[in-house]
Amino acid sequence: MQIFILTISPETFQGPFNCGLFQKAVDKGIVKVDIRNIRDYTHDKHHTTDDSPYGGGAGMVMKPEPIFEAVETIKAELAQQEITGVPVILMTPQGQLFTQAVAQKMNQYENMIIICGQYEGVDERVREHLVTEEISIGDYVLSGGELAAMVVVNAVVRLLPGFLGSPQSLLSESHTDGLLEYPQYTRPQEFRNWAVPDILLSGNHAEIAKWRENQAIIRTKQRRPDMIERAN
Ligand code: SAM
Repeated sequence: MQIFILTISPETFQGPFNCGLFQKAVDKGIVKVDIRNIRDYTHDKHHTTDDSPYGGGAGMVMKPEPIFEAVETIKAELAQQEITGVPVILMTPQGQLFTQAVAQKMNQYENMIIICGQYEGVDERVREHLVTEEISIGDYVLSGGELAAMVVVNAVVRLLPGFLGSPQSLLSESHTDGLLEYPQYTRPQEFRNWAVPDILLSGNHAEIAKWRENQAIIRTKQRRPDMIERAN
């Protein structure tokens, strides 16, 4: 998978994309992340990427020209490799809510371009004429799309084959089948007088599976009754 990220703050991505499992996935060639500075697609002395809003009001709005030029440059580069129809995703609190189901859908993309807004957001013509999908990571407002893009990229990339040491982890985890995951325990068997449930020590895999399924349902009912209503 190849992911292009357009931002005016490329340094923001240094930590999360340069350590741990994500770095391993990059090293293994599972994912390639190409972070482009929108300022590199400006043509004025000050590399201007924003301007005041028409109609007045607070804040600044990101200009359309450098964003269009950045996306069109990437598309032209990809076209040389006969790659077309690349999704262009705008991070925005007005977009479709990002869920595990959306992550699973995006996991099928071989290439994608993600645009990170700042200030009051991007000029509406970007949304109207360039963007194919708008994604929100939740009903709150961040100061920029960079953190939101990191969340989306992480959730999508960890679903790629080879990212996780044991892909079995993906099968039973929270939100995969509409439920929250069952409680997990590890050694020691007893910690400060709190013991691991006996069933998990029984070695009876059928009974353990049944217990885990029940726990997942109980836990989801308690914490997220809205999910139980939607679950199969
Ligand atoms: N004025 C915009 C509005 O009211 O819809 C909010 C702009 S926000 C301060 C700046 C940028 O942060 C947005 O353009 C977007 O890229 C990003 N952003 C903020 N909240 C987000 C969210 N919940 N999900 C995805 N991106 C978000």
